[in-house]
Amino acid sequence: MSGHKLLFDGLKLWTSARSTWLSRLHDGVNGPGKACFSSCNLKLKVCIVGSGPAGFYTAQHLIKARQDVEVDIYERLPVPFGLVRFGVAPDHPEVKNVINTFTQTAKHSRCSFYGNVNVGKDVSIEELQQAYHAVVLSYGAEGNRTMGVPGEDLAGVYSAKDFVGWYNGLPSCRELSPDLSCETAVILGQGNVALDVARILLSPIDILKKTDITQAALEALVESQVRRVLIVGRRGPIQVACTIKELREMVNLPDTRPEMVAAEFQGVTEAVKDLPRPRKRLTELMLKTALEIPGEKEQERRSKASRSWAFRFFRSPIEILANPDNNRTAGIRLAVNRLEGSGEGARAVLTGEVEDVTCGLVISSIGYKSLPIDPSVPFDSHKAIVPNSMGRVQQAGGLYCSGWLKTGPTGVIATTMNNSFDTARSLLEDMDSGTVDVSAARPGSQSISGLLEKRGVRPVIFSDWEKIDRVEINRGEATGKPREKLLTVEEMLQVAQK
Ligand code: FAD
Repeated sequence: MSGHKLLFDGLKLWTSARSTWLSRLHDGVNGPGKACFSSCNLKLKVCIVGSGPAGFYTAQHLIKARQDVEVDIYERLPVPFGLVRFGVAPDHPEVKNVINTFTQTAKHSRCSFYGNVNVGKDVSIEELQQAYHAVVLSYGAEGNRTMGVPGEDLAGVYSAKDFVGWYNGLPSCRELSPDLSCETAVILGQGNVALDVARILLSPIDILKKTDITQAALEALVESQVRRVLIVGRRGPIQVACTIKELREMVNLPDTRPEMVAAEFQGVTEAVKDLPRPRKRLTELMLKTALEIPGEKEQERRSKASRSWAFRFFRSPIEILANPDNNRTAGIRLAVNRLEGSGEGARAVLTGEVEDVTCGLVISSIGYKSLPIDPSVPFDSHKAIVPNSMGRVQQAGGLYCSGWLKTGPTGVIATTMNNSFDTARSLLEDMDSGTVDVSAARPGSQSISGLLEKRGVRPVIFSDWEKIDRVEINRGEATGKPREKLLTVEEMLQVAQK
């Protein structure tokens, strides 16, 4: 072999080895962009803001999909799980089982939980972006839509968000103490949250006292004089926003009877056969409840019931009416509507008629709403979401969103799970394609904990939450409840920091 040939072959070998190495560096051993992290032992650091279902499901997908991803979850409250703890009704314990899956994620060696960190106040999004390769916003929808009618600020008017927060032990709603001394309550909105509230107002205490409802709420409900709940909607029976499970629970609620207005179901029997399946079943149950003469047993049950509930359709609130002293709610003025169009897309149009209903309690359940938490993050105030495509925040590289902040406040936990997995997939794709810069190591929680310390913020880690969990479960055992929640942030911190 000539010297030239040797030199040539050697050069070829080196060039090919170098280009393989370069392409491996660029493309990764297991796909584009991953090589450096497996071979250089660098970790992809992702930060998630919010520890509700969206935060945990996003974390779960990221951790499972890649071995080189580390996830830190920052949560404003000292306790995790968002609306699973503070929204889901206390008499739905089976729904809260998702906490077991979230706990597994939180205890994963590549996941850390930092509670008691209010992002946007204790640490900015910009600081998180400097510390992490990517930031996922999953901080939910903590505001609520207002009715925008006169009298909305009167005593006796509450948002469902606050009322739910009160009976579920959300620290900021602890002082709500709703006045339940009236006979009739009006709930505005006909979604599942409205039905949760109606059920809690009317449930026999024997049922509620075995749940994790707060002791204060339980005591208030024992004294409650509310005997009749009207669940009011702008449109008709075919447009209600609740699901059949929640309606069935209302229909079967012990010691209550339904009192629907048959005239509001005109034309529904004829329309039902053309409805899509879930809507058809829901409407059939409503028709049965409203129009059918019940069997003997059910008749007897209804006649003995001490409380009642009803849907009222085709009604929009126009004013909350005050008592003569002008200091609390005495009723509500409703506009009577008719429908334009048909099916789920039908529109409510005012007829010009009004109707006054006497009531001492009005709970508006017309929707939650996300709020901006940091001026540096794009926010669509009309839709009240962070504008995004497939979870990628528009015009903000390395920033993602999932859950209710991404979609708006609709959908159950399963829906939130799917949209969070989608966001995680988008993030991973961007890391693989190089859209997200993963070329250098990031300090992650190391730098953030330094900042928090300087600012006097002491995070609650997951094992601290487990101390709170144990105390709550022990307190509940004493009264036959699954837990008795701690109601203030101070109390939670005291237990966590013991
Ligand atoms: P959230 O659960 O609200 O989580 C957001 C988290 O972000 C919270 O922990 C919050 O404290 C935290 N956060 C907020 N701001 C900050 C900040 N600045 N810094 C750090 N953290 C922050 N679904 C069902 O499947 N079954 C049910 O029975 C059911 N019942 C429901 C009852 C009610 C009253 C409501 C409102 C919803 C219910 N849902 C139910 C729907 C379910 O709760 C949602 O789909 C889900 O919780 C949305 O998840 P999320 O993570 O987007 O928001």
